[in-house]
Amino acid sequence: MIDAIRTKVRAHESISREEAGWLYGVAEDADLRELATFVRNRYHAPNAATYLVMAIVNYTNVCVAKCDYCSFYRLPNAKDTYLLSTEQVCQQIDVMLGLGGTLVSFNGGFHPKLRITDYAKLFGEIREKYKGKVDFFEFTVAEFMFYCKVSKVSYDEGARILAESGTRWITGGGAEILDDRFRKRHSPLKYKVEDYYTAQKAILDAGMGSTATMVIGFDESLDERLSHLERLRTFQTESNGALPSFLCWTYMPYNNELGGSEIDSASYLRWLAVSRIYLDNIPHIRTSVLTKNEDALLGLHYGADDFDLPTEDLVTTKAGARISHEFDTILASCRAQGFEPQHREPFGLRGEVTLVDLEAV
Ligand code: SF4
Repeated sequence: MIDAIRTKVRAHESISREEAGWLYGVAEDADLRELATFVRNRYHAPNAATYLVMAIVNYTNVCVAKCDYCSFYRLPNAKDTYLLSTEQVCQQIDVMLGLGGTLVSFNGGFHPKLRITDYAKLFGEIREKYKGKVDFFEFTVAEFMFYCKVSKVSYDEGARILAESGTRWITGGGAEILDDRFRKRHSPLKYKVEDYYTAQKAILDAGMGSTATMVIGFDESLDERLSHLERLRTFQTESNGALPSFLCWTYMPYNNELGGSEIDSASYLRWLAVSRIYLDNIPHIRTSVLTKNEDALLGLHYGADDFDLPTEDLVTTKAGARISHEFDTILASCRAQGFEPQHREPFGLRGEVTLVDLEAV
């Protein structure tokens, strides 16, 4: 099997879902690293990795979706709910700027009293204030879907409202495992998979950018994970390569209903490699410093080429993630792995990337 897969990868042919499953379950670690590095090197310089510093601003913890793996949300009538004011959001952004950050990602719960026009106004005010200094990811696809529904507008109309108000990016966050069996078990109120992609298509059609994400380490089966990758690869083909990056992070099991244990780093790295090899139509694979800390940098040997240095994120820290502001230490770990860290700007909307000449690799 490995020889057949190697032949395909070296000819830049896509591998099958079955081959991806075999790679994860059976392949030698050294073979995974070799093949993932081969695909990585078609897109990126071999001994470099890009990064940026960013804040995830969790503007509200009020949520009615009740995902059982979530440690962050509070139901609307709970005592410890919050909704940040514009001033409080700005304070968090100022802290990030002090730490060298250039990107803010807004991510919150499904607040039943807010409407998409409220967000368009909030995002617009904040964007104006930080013009030229900060780029913004405003919403995830999952939040966008909820706020379209609660505002009684179609995805096309919601995307138009946000795009016209100046929104450039809505990330592919809130995806976890895009398989309806998983969604039914853990997050039945959130969305169905095809609905997710309908919303993401509307976002792209309105001229905004989006990304691909995944979270592993719940109780998902390999088949459910493979469904996620397969549908994503098809969507990327259908949308002419619109998604610049794929970020996979890991479930943190503390303080929530689902519980469980953390996935080990070796399994995470193997999945990163499989993702790099299988998602051969997505330029950037990002490894998760947020949940794997310095172990995430080992991912640069498993096909990843990029990472974020987060300054804060309540969603994952409530679930047990540890965020370090010792960025020099993390960058030194990157160098220790043999990769020169290069600070980057946020990706272009269409993920502009120059393919490395296959013959020269
Ligand atoms: S994961 Fe998101 S949608 Fe689900 S309960 Fe938590 S905040 Fe709400």
